[in-house]
Amino acid sequence: MRSEPADATDPALETVRPGQPTPGSVGRVGPGAHEGLADPTGTGRRQRHELWMRRALEVAVTGPTRPDAAVGDDDVPVGAVLYGPDGTELAIGRNERELTGDPTAHAEVLALRRAAQRSGRWRLDGCTLVVTLEPCTMCAGALVLARVSTVVFGAWEPKTGAAGSLWDVLRDRRLNHRPEVYGGVLETETAAVLRAFFR
Ligand SMILES: [Zn+2]
Repeated sequence: MRSEPADATDPALETVRPGQPTPGSVGRVGPGAHEGLADPTGTGRRQRHELWMRRALEVAVTGPTRPDAAVGDDDVPVGAVLYGPDGTELAIGRNERELTGDPTAHAEVLALRRAAQRSGRWRLDGCTLVVTLEPCTMCAGALVLARVSTVVFGAWEPKTGAAGSLWDVLRDRRLNHRPEVYGGVLETETAAVLRAFFR
């Protein structure tokens, strides 16, 4: 039994590699546990995550609110898609911080808000949030508060990432809800979209 670290980063999680589930998720009841039983190799899960990430990339590039408008706006192209427990698409979000002048208008937050509005409840347990970039502290916090079961992200964000890079809000053992996390899914493709924007 190890003692809990004083800071926000759990050293035990440094061994977690991209694409690997959270250690604490083993044996937990939830979609991740179910998937583990149904598909012990994880191949089907990885394929599903990649399929979903391609959809998130599409959202990042085209945007949900103005699909007719060529995305020539100033917003960093980050896309998020929320999937229900049965894999249906519940909501999408694209970073709209510049478009709306809202500092909280990150892709993940917008997808969570839309899904919650539609379902009429704040609890989104059983759901999977797929986003093209590692979530920041605000979005990671919102994902925990919404009780999202699984978070899948693309490119790592060493400067602000709160899902393993700079912090690990999603897997902080002091919090009573910890989603399963899969990072670096289609990392090359998701990073390329961001690089193209900043070039
Ligand atoms: Zn964010």
